[in-house]
Amino acid sequence: MSEFKTKCLIIGSGPAGYTAAIYASRANLEPLLVEGYQPGGQLTTTTEVENFPGYVEGVTGPKLMEDLRDQALRYGAKIIGGEISEIDLSSRPFKARIDNNTHYVEADTVIISTGAAARFLGLPDEERFKGLGVSACATCDGFFYRNRVVAVVGGGDTACEEAMYLANLAKKVYMIVRKDYLRASKVMQKRVLENPKIEVLFNAVTKSLTGDDSGLTGAVVTVGYGDNADTVQIDVDGFFLAIGHKPNTGFLGGQVELDEGGYIVTKAGSSATSVEGVFAAGDVADPVYQQAVVAAGAGCRAALDAERFLMKQG
Ligand code: NDP
Repeated sequence: MSEFKTKCLIIGSGPAGYTAAIYASRANLEPLLVEGYQPGGQLTTTTEVENFPGYVEGVTGPKLMEDLRDQALRYGAKIIGGEISEIDLSSRPFKARIDNNTHYVEADTVIISTGAAARFLGLPDEERFKGLGVSACATCDGFFYRNRVVAVVGGGDTACEEAMYLANLAKKVYMIVRKDYLRASKVMQKRVLENPKIEVLFNAVTKSLTGDDSGLTGAVVTVGYGDNADTVQIDVDGFFLAIGHKPNTGFLGGQVELDEGGYIVTKAGSSATSVEGVFAAGDVADPVYQQAVVAAGAGCRAALDAERFLMKQG
């Protein structure tokens, strides 16, 4: 077991975590960042990011995260793999164990930037077909659906992005949208609606999935409302969920105040949580914006807050 002492433990390696690490390193907090099992977080599963300031031609999600990580390392942040298996925030220094005792950390402050994970519908056979047709990541799994038929559930930017990505590979893409409109930005809506390979089913709700031991073969979907509702079976080989995310806060075991959606509650105008010395940044504390650039800004705020907190403590 290796042991660490740090002025600032940063948990999570999305734009919030890496930006917090850049700022905390430059402020001589000698931060330790625990990057989890998916270094770089959600953006490593996206394709092109066109709206992160500074990248005129856009940048791929993995490249953006690599750049942020390199920048954090350049200023001396220590980065280790693994996940928090136990954390004690009841007194300072805070104590954390990583990967069941592979590492033990004592930290004067903690920045939680663990992001959020994809939501699933909770259909009876969803779990059974995970990896056999059901996925929440088109860029990870889309390759398997070359020239096949797939469905994407959701009407937000993620769903549109996934549908566009899959349309480049698959023969046909259904979008299953529960309302009569897409929530995505206008530019994404336009791209989807003009793509001949994508058929959008509005007012559509998935009732069940069908398949056998070799994998998914279809979905049963009701389309329309009330007397006008039709139940249809669509034959699909892939079923991609893009219905939003839930914050990764389970490991905190209720030690930090959460809102009803499970997001960390921060004090107005600050990244401070309900525990003194513990700060939160990024999607884990942001039910509203959920953008890479906002998360990066939040990471900066959290590092500044941690630095000021330590200064006050003397
Ligand atoms: P959103 O919350 O924006 O959209 C979720 C979608 O899933 C909505 O259409 C919602 O329907 C639908 N949905 C939710 N629950 C269910 C359910 N149980 N059954 C069926 N449908 C459901 O999430 P996103 O992940 O798309 O986006 C999150 C944030 O990230 C947004 O702010 C978005 O703008 C941003 N983003 C930006 C991108 C970019 O700019 N390149 C790319 C991807 C995301 P309903 O509308 O009915 O609630």
